[in-house]
Amino acid sequence: MKGKFCPKCGATDRPFHGGFCIDCYLKDHPGLAETEDITIKRCTHCLRVKTRGVWESGAPASMGEIVRAHVKTSLESPEVTVELVEPGEKKEVYEVTVKGALGAEPVSLTQLVTVKYEKQTCDVCSRKSGNYYEAILQLRPAGREIDLQRMRSALMFLRNEARAMVKKDRKAEIFRYEMVKNGVDVYFGSARAAKVALQHLQATYRPTVKESYTLKGVDKETGKKRYSVTYSVRL
Ligand SMILES: [Zn+2]
Ligand SMILES: [Zn+2]
Repeated sequence: MKGKFCPKCGATDRPFHGGFCIDCYLKDHPGLAETEDITIKRCTHCLRVKTRGVWESGAPASMGEIVRAHVKTSLESPEVTVELVEPGEKKEVYEVTVKGALGAEPVSLTQLVTVKYEKQTCDVCSRKSGNYYEAILQLRPAGREIDLQRMRSALMFLRNEARAMVKKDRKAEIFRYEMVKNGVDVYFGSARAAKVALQHLQATYRPTVKESYTLKGVDKETGKKRYSVTYSVRL
């Protein structure tokens, strides 16, 4: 007999590793590339997920990253690809493929991983539904006459500002708009975001701005008084 044969299955025509054919070796060492099933909190309203204590995008690309972070492998130079194969509301199935090497042999291992979603309401969505806000920008005309076009343009400006900030901080979202007799009130979830948006608005529209504060209560955790800020913006 020429060459090696596998003491387990008798194969002679396969690459060998650790004294066995590579198939038998892989079967006996299932832990070479493993991903455990994942349970994760997902907001039913915005579909963001909570990882490491932070609410993050639950889009397929970022879910792929989350699944990838759960892969444990002892293959050499592993390359991991993750693909969503079964989308769903309560759970999703991802196919994880780990390509790497076992000694001189290239190896590719594929596994299905289930991600279970626990229904939650995220911090921002719960604030939104609870009528929470940190700042109001009251857009009003500078004179008696309301310049609708200018008002609308300023509103769009704020919307785009908020949209740009939301990519980094979801609290920067505009929570709601309220049409009033001579203008519109814009409610921001974050005072900081409102301030940044206002500064940019000021640079472009040069309105007169007055600010006032309203006591909203006391923060249970820090004991500090909480205020909301109202900016009266005369366009
Ligand atoms: Zn074998
Ligand atoms: Zn949410």
